[in-house]
Amino acid sequence: MNNQAIDIKNSDVLVIGAGTAGIGAAIAAARKGLKVYLLESSNKIGGVMSSCPGMPLGAGYPCGKSIGGIFDEFVNRLYDMKPPAAEKRVCSLEEFGPEVLYDHEIAIFTLYEMLAESNVNLLLNATATDVIVEDNRVNKVVYYDRNGKHIINCKIVIDCSGDGDIASKAGVPYIKGDENGNMMGTTLTFLMINADWKKIFDENDDPYFRKYAEKGILEGRIHEDLYKLYIMKGFHKDSVYFNSVVIRDVDGTNVEDVTKATFEARKRCHQLIEFVKNEIPGFENSQAIYMGPVVGVRETRKFDGLYQITRQDIAKGEKFCDGIVACDNPIDDVFRGSNVMTHDSIGDKGLYYTIPFRTMVPESIKNLMFAGRIISADSVAFASVRGMPQCMIMGQACGIAASISIKNDQDIQSIEYDELVKELQLLGVNGIGGEEL
Ligand SMILES: Cc1cc2nc3c(=O)[nH]c(=O)nc-3n(C[C@H](O)[C@H](O)[C@H](O)COP(=O)(O)OP(=O)(O)OC[C@H]3O[C@@H](n4cnc5c(N)ncnc54)[C@H](O)[C@@H]3O)c2cc1C
Repeated sequence: MNNQAIDIKNSDVLVIGAGTAGIGAAIAAARKGLKVYLLESSNKIGGVMSSCPGMPLGAGYPCGKSIGGIFDEFVNRLYDMKPPAAEKRVCSLEEFGPEVLYDHEIAIFTLYEMLAESNVNLLLNATATDVIVEDNRVNKVVYYDRNGKHIINCKIVIDCSGDGDIASKAGVPYIKGDENGNMMGTTLTFLMINADWKKIFDENDDPYFRKYAEKGILEGRIHEDLYKLYIMKGFHKDSVYFNSVVIRDVDGTNVEDVTKATFEARKRCHQLIEFVKNEIPGFENSQAIYMGPVVGVRETRKFDGLYQITRQDIAKGEKFCDGIVACDNPIDDVFRGSNVMTHDSIGDKGLYYTIPFRTMVPESIKNLMFAGRIISADSVAFASVRGMPQCMIMGQACGIAASISIKNDQDIQSIEYDELVKELQLLGVNGIGGEEL
């Protein structure tokens, strides 16, 4: 077998993974004039946003005010379209703040446009598999595509892969899941169209449709884990988004686990579709579309950063000197080693905290950061920090930190937090650097 690299590319910044964090990171760094490669192992950008098409962007408006930055730019582009391609709505669960519903295809296309306008070199179907670490620096990353092996030389690497494939290969310590190794359940989502909103939602005041769920379970027509049917209005009139079918005990870094879970989840989704069409008034003439290609993975690795954000920090509404994004997302835990789904508020109304930059910086690798759902957080804080809007700004912060590090010829660990936070404020990020939301 020939294991020679086909080519060697040079980059200033290499971003692994084109989910919301990776998109934020790549755009921010490329707009600073840096040569950025963005590797995406699947055939579409968006990450969880694409594996769960139509999923609301939650937590973008702590205390009703936008977190700003690239999130704001993205949603404003959608709001300003004619007709608008997104809408800010009150969430049907009272613990959550306003969320953004959107047309999935237009939203993803807009993200492609933003990457292209910023001159990001995006490579789809390209999986980062290995690193070459010299003198505590990740100098080269190996990736594979259908043609074979490639190498990218990089000054800075930002791992936004959701699972931290590259940070783990670089030797950054991590844990998987909570303190006992339990990871949150995975979910396969789908959308139903031609449903009658009026009948479905006006005549039901339980956002979980528990009386129907109970009947379905009792009669053996839906799986017993579906005791809460979390369903909500989609973006387009008479479309309904189902975030209901959870498969537990799946290790999202194990392809066999994910494949098995995806098939099992599809089975449960089809049972549920059949059930709601026959049992819940308003679904009689509806059809399911946009089922995720694969289960959405909430949680795998969490890396050791210079700082670990904790349950105490979020309960106090801590505002860190290196806070880079505001957050008031509830503690949104789904079947992590138990039967419960929690959406507990972080505290009194109006409370929010900021996520420190140090949660994305390893102790010893001098040119590596990790953003999105792999930052350094304890299990409770993790359940709050992981919303897509926050992931996007975490990425943006790492992209800016990369440009500061290159400009000043500094290790990531030594950049001045003040300089980073000020630059993010200039880019419209709200509620940081001593500024209240
Ligand atoms: C079922 C479910 C429901 C959720 N509900 C909400 C909600 O309502 N609102 C909300 O805001 N958030 C919600 N979340 C949380 C949120 O979606 C995620 O935390 C967030 O999208 C994570 O973004 P990310 O960029 O860190 O990672 P991901 O979105 O996981 O993106 C990582 C990307 O990296 C790619 N990748 C992985 N490994 C490699 C590699 N080795 N090389 C190249 N590419 C690689 C992946 O293909 C993927 O595209 C939900 C999550 C799930 C799973």
